[in-house]
Amino acid sequence: MKKVALILMCCIISIKSFCWGFYAHQRINYYAVFLLPPEMMVFYKPNIEFLSNHAVDPDKRRYAVAAEAPRHYIDIDHYGHYPYAELPKRYDSAVAKFSEDTVLANGIVPWWIQTMQMRLTNAFKEKSAAKILKLSAEIGHYVADAHVPLHASSNHDGQLTNQKGIHAFWESRVPELLAEKEFSFMIGKAFYISNISQYVWGRVLESAAEADTVLQNEAKLTRQFSPDQKFAFEERNGKILRQYSSSFTVAYNSSLKGMVERRMRTAIGSVASMWYTAWVNAGQPDLKNLQVISFNEEDVKEFETLDSAWKNNVRKGREHE
Ligand SMILES: [Zn+2]
Repeated sequence: MKKVALILMCCIISIKSFCWGFYAHQRINYYAVFLLPPEMMVFYKPNIEFLSNHAVDPDKRRYAVAAEAPRHYIDIDHYGHYPYAELPKRYDSAVAKFSEDTVLANGIVPWWIQTMQMRLTNAFKEKSAAKILKLSAEIGHYVADAHVPLHASSNHDGQLTNQKGIHAFWESRVPELLAEKEFSFMIGKAFYISNISQYVWGRVLESAAEADTVLQNEAKLTRQFSPDQKFAFEERNGKILRQYSSSFTVAYNSSLKGMVERRMRTAIGSVASMWYTAWVNAGQPDLKNLQVISFNEEDVKEFETLDSAWKNNVRKGREHE
């Protein structure tokens, strides 16, 4: 009887779902540090824990600030067909053509990354350790989101094709189950990005092109699994939850032929390269003396606000699970 009650209780605990999941976002920022040149590593490595932990701040901010949500995605299929030539790649031109309301409603991740990149470059110019860390952690989040196929699709949680849950399945369940065991994160070095806009749009278009495969492979596999094979009560973060079964997850991942791992690896390379490019564009400031950092009262208060908004669990703005 106790066991049944426990299972029922577990069923009703709602799982918060995030872009790339907390796990993957934290790992992406973590691994990105190792791609940096020694002149940057000297500052980033001692702060690797901060960079990993705060990789998820932008998702927490979605519980505190309504304007946050569109910074994580772009429903690019609202603008025609691949490669979306109709959509101007400059923000002001896109707004002039479609109106700001439309652009905001469809998500702004490719533009927001460019704003964050400018802020990070300025932080390097100011040699402000706290700003460099905060902005590095956060740009890592948005860059990683831009690599997720369902962040570039209006059918972002399979809600249009009766596949609700697929968003967190692809970006949380698959990496949480398989990344440590099967994915390789040996990735070359950070590189200089000479055209940020072109680079970001390139990754977003790759994501958009892969969204169909993400959806279709899940639908196909669902036809081969009975519901009780597809879902199972299994452990997640110390709790027993009904979720996509391990066997369904493994089969899905292999049907994607390494897509999740590939996008995660590309995200890591992109994050490190964004950091590196900002540092180069700021004139390669010496980071050696920035090792000891302390956050001011305002920063600390912001971290607390983000945490409590997240814990209160009411998201503002549109959902984009
Ligand atoms: Zn996000």
